[in-house]
Amino acid sequence: MKKPKNVKRLCPYCKKHTEHKVSQTKKKNPSSLSYGSKVRAKLRGKARGTGNQGRYSKPPVGNFKRTGAKTSKKTDFRYECKECKKVHVQSHGIRAKRVELV
Ligand SMILES: [Zn+2]
Repeated sequence: MKKPKNVKRLCPYCKKHTEHKVSQTKKKNPSSLSYGSKVRAKLRGKARGTGNQGRYSKPPVGNFKRTGAKTSKKTDFRYECKECKKVHVQSHGIRAKRVELV
């Protein structure tokens, strides 16, 4: 998907159409480490306690039997108004494998 870097959009603060700068922010869960990094932390003796951190030794059935998992991500565009410098987000994302700001 190709998206222009600058678009004309309605600014809800200025209440008129103004030029907006488009940027994309990756959604990320800041509180969670990957399972592998927890295992490595444990090996170095950095993690608390023993055991498997409340996990089962086998993944749930749905995890490996799941087919047709999505390969695309929803876009997460931020629009910055060039007049008032306020940022607003898109109302809903569109699925795309790759997003390019041109
Ligand atoms: Zn504005």
